[in-house]
Amino acid sequence: MRYLGITPKTPRLAVFDFTCCEGCELQLANKEETLPAFLGAVDIVNFREISSDRRDDYEIAFVEGSISRDDEVARLQTIRKNARLLVALGSCACFGGVNRMKNAYDLDQANREVYGDHPKPTRPVRAVRELVAVDLQIPGCPVSKAEVERIVQHLVLGLPYNFPAYPVCVECKQRFNVCMWDKGQPCLGPIALAGCDAPCPSAGLGCYGCRGPAPDANLTEFFDMARKHGVSDADIQERLHFFGGFEGLR
Ligand code: SF4
Ligand code: SF4
Ligand code: SF4
Repeated sequence: MRYLGITPKTPRLAVFDFTCCEGCELQLANKEETLPAFLGAVDIVNFREISSDRRDDYEIAFVEGSISRDDEVARLQTIRKNARLLVALGSCACFGGVNRMKNAYDLDQANREVYGDHPKPTRPVRAVRELVAVDLQIPGCPVSKAEVERIVQHLVLGLPYNFPAYPVCVECKQRFNVCMWDKGQPCLGPIALAGCDAPCPSAGLGCYGCRGPAPDANLTEFFDMARKHGVSDADIQERLHFFGGFEGLR
């Protein structure tokens, strides 16, 4: 790939998965129309879903999934030591994701009820940045393919990437949607980080904030607005905690 007559380096890239559904790395692997360009822009040295290579000389590591077992901690620390740049891929890696809901339960009791006399090793879920330094976070459940490709372009060219500084409502309005609140359904669009192109409200589902909070999200005003629409604080809280991205904000 040449740009302005310059051939950029092809960085060695690895993708690793932890506790998750692997849907985010699948976003990279299944976009057939751009997969050859993606494979040409980077040198894949370790990516279980698309390659049998298992090398440790990667420069960039994409880490998908939350951390929920002791053995995962040691593996993550090794990846951190090897990688020049560690990228958290998807809401599980960035916030704990839907897995984070399990932290509200007694894990010993849940283990006994599900596995009886054969308990499985498990720990409260943590985001990647709670255990090692993270250089870049790409939120989303799943991540947006288009956004990840833009970010990969920036990484290859060594340029910083700026996430949108506005909420999902901006992209929703650009798609001429009738607001979900006017249709009687809650939506976190006013406080959620844009960049996904508002697929949920465009398909008739209020946003659950899978990308976490927008910069300067005004939760106090948002709760007031929800109450005026007859939506309880408890319902909003449940939505805020769905992907773990608003943890600590409210
Ligand atoms: S963020 Fe969502 S799509 Fe990605 S791995 Fe986690 S659960 Fe799957
Ligand atoms: S549907 Fe949601 S994202 Fe769209 S304008 Fe309304 S609140 Fe904002
Ligand atoms: S609209 Fe909301 S829930 Fe849907 S992808 Fe965007 S941030 Fe996530």
